[in-house]
Amino acid sequence: MMLEIKDVSAGYGPANVVHDVSLDVRPGEIVTLVGANGAGKSTLAKTISGLVPCRKGTIELSGVRIDRKSTAERMRLGIVHIPEGRQVFSGLSVNENLQLGGYLDRRQPAELARRRSDVLAAFPVLVDRLSGTAGNLSGGQQQMLAIGRGLMSRPKLLILDEPSLGLAPLIVAEIFRLIVRLRERGLSILLSEQNAQQSLGIADRGYVLENGRVALSGSGTELLQSREVVDRYLGVGTGTADPRSSSGAISSQLRGLLDDI
Ligand code: ATP
Repeated sequence: MMLEIKDVSAGYGPANVVHDVSLDVRPGEIVTLVGANGAGKSTLAKTISGLVPCRKGTIELSGVRIDRKSTAERMRLGIVHIPEGRQVFSGLSVNENLQLGGYLDRRQPAELARRRSDVLAAFPVLVDRLSGTAGNLSGGQQQMLAIGRGLMSRPKLLILDEPSLGLAPLIVAEIFRLIVRLRERGLSILLSEQNAQQSLGIADRGYVLENGRVALSGSGTELLQSREVVDRYLGVGTGTADPRSSSGAISSQLRGLLDDI
């Protein structure tokens, strides 16, 4: 099993948001997590990557317990989490964003150059924009850059939180095609989405999260045909645009890190 979550509870302050969730991702699978706004998808994604502490249960990556490890250790073991909102470093160039994605392996420049070529082969639209400022990219290009930056650390498991958020339908279709291509390259993917139709359409399996609990699970096709999913989730929109940007101060700190690479 690539990722195995058993009875996990997590939350903020005194209350748990995710309750006794069990879920797994097999090698080379796309597993989709669907659920309404506030169901706990982002919290679960953050609990897997270590941004939110796991209060109960266990999380294993390729058979290794990771629920007590730091986010950096989990990243070294192969988890990359692309958070909601296309958080590229908007004041930095496309190339600098990619370089930062390889920060953990900054002592291996030849390896990083290989990875960068691979990323650019997957996202050719970024090639002509390498020296341009990331903040000037379109929403879809920023999402590709956010994913590309994540790929620079050569993950085994990619966690994508709402990659379609605020993007036009044609661009959403393109992003989903890219996600399928990443699976073809052997990546395992956990995809959290409100856009149930398209995300279950590309999924090997899926889980429906309701009020922090798994309400339903099955193959992508089974879930797409399930009356509950059809009634509650199909046709749910992708929300509004969420243009977040990093401040100039953050950009200069990040440039300091780049000096290290
Ligand atoms: P969305 O699509 O809106 O991100 P979601 O299914 O990902 O929805 P979460 O973001 O995990 O849901 O939120 C689940 C619950 O946790 C919500 O009630 C939310 O208000 C609460 N929550 C999220 N982040 C925090 C936080 N940092 N502190 C306290 N409560 C939070």
